[in-house]
Amino acid sequence: MAPDPNTNQRALGHGDYTIGWVCALTKERVAATAMLDEKHAPLNNPAGDTNSYTLGSIGVHNVVIACLPKGVMGTVSAAQVATQAARTFSSLKFVLMVGIGGGIPNKSKVRLGDVVVSTPNGQHPSVVQWDFGKAKEGSKFERIGALNSPPTLLLTALTALETEHEMNGSKIPKYLNEMAVKYPKLVEQYMRSDSLKDILFRASCKHVEAAPQGSSGNRNKEENENENERGEEEEEEEEEEEEEEEEEEEEDSCRWCDKKQIVKRKAREMKIHYGVIASGNQVIKDATKRDKLNKDLGGNILCIEMEAAGLMNNFPCIVIRGICDYADAHKNKAWQEHAAAVAAAFAKELLVNYIQPDAVDREHPIKEILAQVYDTVSAIDVNVKAVRAELNDEKDLKILNWLTPINYGPQQSDYLAKRQNGSGQWFLDSPEFKNWLENVDDKKTLFCPGIPGAGKTILTSIVINYLMTRVVQETGIAYIYCNFKRRDEQKLGNLLLSILKQLAQSQPFLPDIISNLYREHSSRETRPQVSDISKALQLVASLYSRIFIVVDALDECVEGDLAEFLSEIFELQANFKTSLFATSRPIPEIKQFFEEDKTILLEIRAKNEDIEMHLNRRMPQLPRFVKSNQELQNEIKSKIIQAANGMFLLAELYISSFRELKTLKALKTSLKSLSQSVSGYDSMYETAMERIEHSRGFAKPVLLWIVYAKRFLSPSELQHALAIEMETSELDESNLPDISDIISVCSGLVTIDEDSNVTDV
Ligand SMILES: [Zn+2]
Repeated sequence: MAPDPNTNQRALGHGDYTIGWVCALTKERVAATAMLDEKHAPLNNPAGDTNSYTLGSIGVHNVVIACLPKGVMGTVSAAQVATQAARTFSSLKFVLMVGIGGGIPNKSKVRLGDVVVSTPNGQHPSVVQWDFGKAKEGSKFERIGALNSPPTLLLTALTALETEHEMNGSKIPKYLNEMAVKYPKLVEQYMRSDSLKDILFRASCKHVEAAPQGSSGNRNKEENENENERGEEEEEEEEEEEEEEEEEEEEDSCRWCDKKQIVKRKAREMKIHYGVIASGNQVIKDATKRDKLNKDLGGNILCIEMEAAGLMNNFPCIVIRGICDYADAHKNKAWQEHAAAVAAAFAKELLVNYIQPDAVDREHPIKEILAQVYDTVSAIDVNVKAVRAELNDEKDLKILNWLTPINYGPQQSDYLAKRQNGSGQWFLDSPEFKNWLENVDDKKTLFCPGIPGAGKTILTSIVINYLMTRVVQETGIAYIYCNFKRRDEQKLGNLLLSILKQLAQSQPFLPDIISNLYREHSSRETRPQVSDISKALQLVASLYSRIFIVVDALDECVEGDLAEFLSEIFELQANFKTSLFATSRPIPEIKQFFEEDKTILLEIRAKNEDIEMHLNRRMPQLPRFVKSNQELQNEIKSKIIQAANGMFLLAELYISSFRELKTLKALKTSLKSLSQSVSGYDSMYETAMERIEHSRGFAKPVLLWIVYAKRFLSPSELQHALAIEMETSELDESNLPDISDIISVCSGLVTIDEDSNVTDV
């Protein structure tokens, strides 16, 4: 490849960069990069820094552009990216958050292609986090925690710039034109053109997705004739590659909307607005909600976006947003590139002309206040979650629980708690996982078969945790832990309801279709049919720009229902950007459900290093003659790892069998038989069972009770069951066995889940 003529190969050190520029979307990064006067050669990231940077200069300033990982958005992620950047680039003094946002058209007269800059306005701070507060009666929502004002250096610069604009106009057009000359390829999308129409519908005007059925008469006749053929073609394509078709689609995405409801406004030049930005983790695409939010916040909001609040509290920072839509149902992506370019050009104008390098030098590096930032970031994270839960008032919660009372949250916490520090990282780092996470369009399913005991369930919990903590914005996540013990709860309808519930739950407002289902059924005490659930699922799915569905142990799903369940998920995949992660024992009948070209296959095996971590934790429980002999410990570990052959459970059975050995000789014999055993799992299982047979009394009844019980037993229930003696009618409390004896006598086969308080084999 020919070297990029715009890259200057002069490499600077990390400490030479003083200004951070954070963006969330690739198009924002493109616009930012296009504004650089010079691009610098990249520097290696220090270990632990996973950000991707573009380095360069604007005027006399050296600038670091850091972008959020693809598909990741939200206030917390923005804070994490900026924190990372400030650590790596130790001289960073402040951060510009530059990108796009939704305009609030009411009083403020913000229009598409305008720029909004966060500055304090009266009593209001420059950024309000609207989803950070306490839910009050009804849906009234009291915001807490005003966010800091931008640093004085930046506010002073903004005042000077505003004055200059007032007198001589902005240099934004100049910088956009320079961009067009330097990067002709960007002209079509990033420059303003006649194809960009700024249409504002009244708040009451509903967006109409498709032609009203069977009544073309509703439409303007001429228009109808002209567009008939084209319309049909486009709709077919629309279903598949939405992104690709966007450009042509966008112009017309409101072609069915009521043109009489368009707000009449005179054309005018682009404008810059200074004032309050509302930031939150949820997308607003509803004019009524938008206007209510503005009213609740005092009526001065200019723009709604999704990253700023993560930074404003402690980072010296301002937010610059190009307006790309009106945060209503008609919103589309047509203006995004141009809006990103306008915002980037504004940032350039500010840096080149109004920020003095010696003033920058006098500021404290962000790094110095980082510890503080970290505390606040995690506090915000926790609070946002709490607030979200509170947002659903009692009635919404009642409806959601009516859908299904089943909640997989406690299981998720249980499994995740069993993860050893750092274990499973190999999976998250694997190219297969990354490919699945990043490649939304073709490989939609990550199917992970694994032998029993390979650690599939723990890995599933790691994947869920990864998705939950990183991918927040406009993304729905739903998960299911299949378990043959819960078969009654896990019939087809319940599985779908569970996914529907989880997707509906993380919407800022309960979707209407759910309330309708409830109204229709609850009074008659009927339940929705699978077809109704499936319809609701499709509708709620459409509220997200991406969906993750995670299902553990497909092989434990009710057999007859599995095919139908998967076909519902595949239906979602066909219509929406839905990524499925599923595990199962390696069973050909299950594997055949997954079409090769849409599936990434990754076998789950316990990694040797993960097993070793586990064994290390167990070492102190071995007899004393082992504890004092490091060499012996190493031998035990390596033999077990070898014999376990990728099976966690097996390693655990081996190590616990060593606990009872009294002499070195006995241990050596066991080690020797270890390396000779062929079908490890079977023979080990037999040995464990044998030991149980011979143990004092109740090991066998313990296993029988657990295995044959219709549902999970709590430890106390199990104790009581074991205390029952044949031919007695009263329970003798003194006959209750101790729970820790139960565990120890069953040689590693029985566990207690602390959170859900159940016993299991
Ligand atoms: Zn519309």
